[in-house]
Amino acid sequence: MSRAYIALGANLGDPAATVNAAFAALSGLPQTRLLATSALYRTAPIGIAEQPEFVNAAASVETTLTPEALLDALLAIEQQFGRVRAEKNGPRTLDLDILLYDEQIIATPRLTLPHPRLHLRAFVLYPLADLAPKLCIPGRGQLAAWLPAVANQGIQRL
Ligand code: ADP
Ligand code: MG
Repeated sequence: MSRAYIALGANLGDPAATVNAAFAALSGLPQTRLLATSALYRTAPIGIAEQPEFVNAAASVETTLTPEALLDALLAIEQQFGRVRAEKNGPRTLDLDILLYDEQIIATPRLTLPHPRLHLRAFVLYPLADLAPKLCIPGRGQLAAWLPAVANQGIQRL
């Protein structure tokens, strides 16, 4: 069994409802058990400012899927929720990213682990800290040490 952490983000339609429905979809993944879900957070968009606010969250799972198979399963859930890939950092019905998969460090064209920007984003660090406050990010050190630097990124616990 491996432990993975997944980031959820949505900013179209009813994003909070989408994130909650996505938790349910994660709990239905094969070879996978949903362990815990974070609070939901409202966050300001990064990159393209002229778009609705995001709702972000994180989940922890136990799985026997490989990292690549887990990514495939997450991309399939995004499709089920009607995601259309348009501009980078643009609006999306649902974004599901793998943040961490055990202590694995992976850099392939399809998959980078740990997620390359996870330590820089309040909308990832805060939900992740709900699930695992003492988490160590491979190559980056303690999660908690990155929190002060992102405290100025507008984020509100729902
Ligand atoms: P982003 O999540 O960066 O806003 P997308 O959701 O459109 O962008 O993802 C683009 C691609 O990123 C995916 O098709 C996937 O192959 C790749 N990718 C690389 N590393 C990861 C990861 N850790 N989690 C999810 N996708 C990843
Ligand atoms: Mg993504």
